[in-house]
Amino acid sequence: MNSSNLKYMDDNSAKNIIRLHAMFKQSRSNGPGCRTVIWTQGCPFHCNGCFNPRTHSLTEGELFPIRYLVDFIMKQKDSIEGITITGGEPLIQSQPLAAFLELLHKKSPPLSVILLTGYQWEEIGLIPDIERILNHTDVVIAGRFELKRRISSGLRGSSNKTIHLLTERYCLEEIENTPPAEIAISPEGEIIISGIDPPIYTNPDKEAP
Ligand code: SF4
Repeated sequence: MNSSNLKYMDDNSAKNIIRLHAMFKQSRSNGPGCRTVIWTQGCPFHCNGCFNPRTHSLTEGELFPIRYLVDFIMKQKDSIEGITITGGEPLIQSQPLAAFLELLHKKSPPLSVILLTGYQWEEIGLIPDIERILNHTDVVIAGRFELKRRISSGLRGSSNKTIHLLTERYCLEEIENTPPAEIAISPEGEIIISGIDPPIYTNPDKEAP
C-alpha cells in the first residue's frame, strides 16, 4: 500500500482490501463508451497464450482499500458511463469485490459494471458472495481464454467465452462493437496499451496494464 492511500488504513480488514494489477481512468476499448478499468492481480488459470501473464502472481500487484478505489472512480464519474473489472481473475477476490461494488453502487447507482472472468458461467454459482457481485453487474464475459479459438473482438478473447447480459443496460451489439484496442498517453507521459486485441508493442517493460 503506498503513501497515497494511507488515509484509508483504518479500512484494512481483508474483506475491504483488493489486490490490483493496474487501473486506467478512461478507456474506450473495455466496453461501451468511456470506462474506468480495474485489473485485479492474481489468476489461477494460466491459459496458454494469455495476453497478460504479469497478472497471474497472487502476491504481486498492490493492495488497495475498497474505499480508495471507490473514491478513485467517483473522481471520474462525470466522464465515464461505467467501469470494467478484469484481470487477472477478479472472482478469486470475491468478498472484497462484492463489498466494493455495493459501496460503489451506494455512491453512484448509474455507473454500469462489466465483469470479465476466466470462470465459465456454470462455475460462477459456486463462488462465495457471487450473488452480491451479480446484483451490481450488468454484463459478465465468462470462460477461459482458448488460444485455438482466438477471436479477440467484442470483449471476447476466444469464441468459447460467453456473454451474459444481466440487465437491460446494454444489448449484445453494443458489447460486440467495443473497439478491440487503444493506445493512450497519460498526463505523466506513460503509454498505456489496452483492449482485447492490443497491437504488439516492442518494449517489454511497457506491456499492457
Ligand atoms: S483467465 Fe484471463 S488472465 Fe487468467 S490466464 Fe486466462 S486469459 Fe490470462
